[in-house]
Amino acid sequence: MAALDTIYFDNNATTRPLDEVVAAMQPFWVDAYANPSSVHQFGQSVKHAIECAREQVAALIHANPGEIVFTSSGTESINLAIRGALAMVPTKRKFVTTAVEHAAVVRLSEELDREGYEVILIGVDRDGRIDEEAWLAAMTDDTALASIQHANNETGVMMDVPRLAELAQSRGVAVHVDAVQTVGKVAVNVTDWPIQFASFSAHKFHGPKGAGGLYVRRRTRLKPLIVGGSQERELRAGTENTAAIVGMGVAATCCGEAMVETAARVGALRDQLERDLVAAMSIASVNGSQANRVYNTTNISFENLEAEAILILLSEAGIYASSGAACSSGSLQPSHVLQAMGTEASMAHGAIRFSLSRYSNEEEVVSVVERLPGLLARLSRLGSR
Ligand code: PLP
Repeated sequence: MAALDTIYFDNNATTRPLDEVVAAMQPFWVDAYANPSSVHQFGQSVKHAIECAREQVAALIHANPGEIVFTSSGTESINLAIRGALAMVPTKRKFVTTAVEHAAVVRLSEELDREGYEVILIGVDRDGRIDEEAWLAAMTDDTALASIQHANNETGVMMDVPRLAELAQSRGVAVHVDAVQTVGKVAVNVTDWPIQFASFSAHKFHGPKGAGGLYVRRRTRLKPLIVGGSQERELRAGTENTAAIVGMGVAATCCGEAMVETAARVGALRDQLERDLVAAMSIASVNGSQANRVYNTTNISFENLEAEAILILLSEAGIYASSGAACSSGSLQPSHVLQAMGTEASMAHGAIRFSLSRYSNEEEVVSVVERLPGLLARLSRLGSR
């Protein structure tokens, strides 16, 4: 349990579920337990709750409810989109993505490579912005699919999805967007984007873990990963995680309603945090600072320090942050994202991600800015690197 006096700045890893979300889920664990595929009234009432959640989620991203497929996570959505789209065009053997994707895309790309696909990873500049020329050049007749993240989970750097998707579509290439770090945080309008697929995940926007979704543009062909019952229009078999889906729907509505206010308030807090930390410590610098970034994220390098050591000290002080992707914690390799951005080793090894949410406040920001220089001075004396 996070104690009251702790500071949780790890919201890109996961967010605290809203009280409204927890309350809405409760009945589906206790009384409303029927199988939504059952024809009786009890089952159909649960099915109705799922369809309401589909409408809520669709409204958040301006999709049609019929274009939403519920899954268990962002990772499953990504696997479904990429594997499912590639399977529909078996003669095309080229997959294009970027060098800064989340592990879900990275590991899948490695598998595709082993299976004989030509996998092209497009590079980024020092601020994490993609090389558009190389992106366009990779779109050839044999390109089956292009996949791009909307915002990077480590740096918050946002890709110009409409532009990149347009370039891909100008060559007839279908596009998947990993929007896991943006849906629920920034305005996403899938009808404005020339794309076929977009992945999202409830626990990143104050919904529960165990619920994610894939937007599949109408009339786009997709092969399921999981077959069995006819749930989710046969695109994702298996009895639905009703409570989590209902929770995701409520989170979608609440985050949609609060989005403008949250962006302004949390954005100001993030700016204050990075401005004051950089001013207080000459060893601190912000990664991706020149790029357009999601308002809640800052990735700060502390020169010649080791991120793992910093995180341990912070954790002991009740400050929870992350070193890039949570799943890479424990490894001493600098993040592949910072490496792709050409960040020097002395900076990449000491990079910490602080990710805020609507629950963050100014007192927390001030407290981190006050305490961090002293904590890190201890590390420098110990000779962290
Ligand atoms: N894509 C991005 C950009 C992410 O940040 C994450 C989670 O950190 C995922 C995909 C995977 O989402 P999930 O944890 O729901 O599987």
